[in-house]
Amino acid sequence: MIKYILSKSHPRYLSLYYRDLLAKGVRNGITSLQGLTAHGRGEAFDYLIGEKTHSFAQKAIEAAAAMLLLSRKPVISVNGNTAALVPKELIKLAQVTKAKLEVNLFHSSKKRERAIVAYFKKCGAREVLTPDKTIIPNVTSNRKHISQAGQKTADVIFIPLEDGDRTEQLIKLGKKVITVDLNPLSRTAQKASVTIVDNIIRCLPLLIAEINKLKHTNEKELLGIVKKYRNRPVINQALQQLNRRLTALSGK
Ligand code: ATP
Ligand code: MG
Repeated sequence: MIKYILSKSHPRYLSLYYRDLLAKGVRNGITSLQGLTAHGRGEAFDYLIGEKTHSFAQKAIEAAAAMLLLSRKPVISVNGNTAALVPKELIKLAQVTKAKLEVNLFHSSKKRERAIVAYFKKCGAREVLTPDKTIIPNVTSNRKHISQAGQKTADVIFIPLEDGDRTEQLIKLGKKVITVDLNPLSRTAQKASVTIVDNIIRCLPLLIAEINKLKHTNEKELLGIVKKYRNRPVINQALQQLNRRLTALSGK
């Protein structure tokens, strides 16, 4: 293996740092090789939106916080990328929302599932659910395998960086889905109840802070936030931001 020292003074230090975390995730059997390319797609969109959290993401974060606080049974779905990038933040989110963590993998294997559970426990999680014999109808990928105690009986599911098929079917089952996806055009982003178009790394601390800010707000006000939220305009604003930025950069 080629050894290199990552210098903090490198202009792309953070990007390189998170790529190294994912590479380590692959070496530790947590992240799939395909997860690396999925991250690359996210990085490309992040580059285009200017690598910052915009007001459309803030709006979605507020709605997501209210929705999670109102939820009777929230579940946080984790995959190999989120486990490698933000395990501690996901554990914190589970604590502040009293949500269950559940592993759900596209490129699934029992071995990787076990590695992810062990890694979350090492990072401080008490319980991490894994799929049992429960299935989401009409999903053809491995993601159809879920946990009875988790996604099957959840009312709100936080599904960052994941796939459109499952999001669509979970919504058909009457559940609310919150996603974090830098690509506003992905099926997940398009189908979710709340789409936070932001990098999961920037967005999780903001979501946790918003939950802490709203946690003493009464139910009526929280319901008001959720009711007035509209996802479509938020996705449109993300697309307009891409458009505006490219137009400005191209000197028009
Ligand atoms: P869909 O199945 O919803 O159509 P997809 O097939 O385009 O999506 P997937 O590989 O299923 O993409 O999911 C990965 C998604 O996660 C991509 O849309 C990518 O932009 C996004 N993504 C990757 N890394 C990050 C990150 N760090 N923060 C936020 N989003 C990310
Ligand atoms: Mg997909």
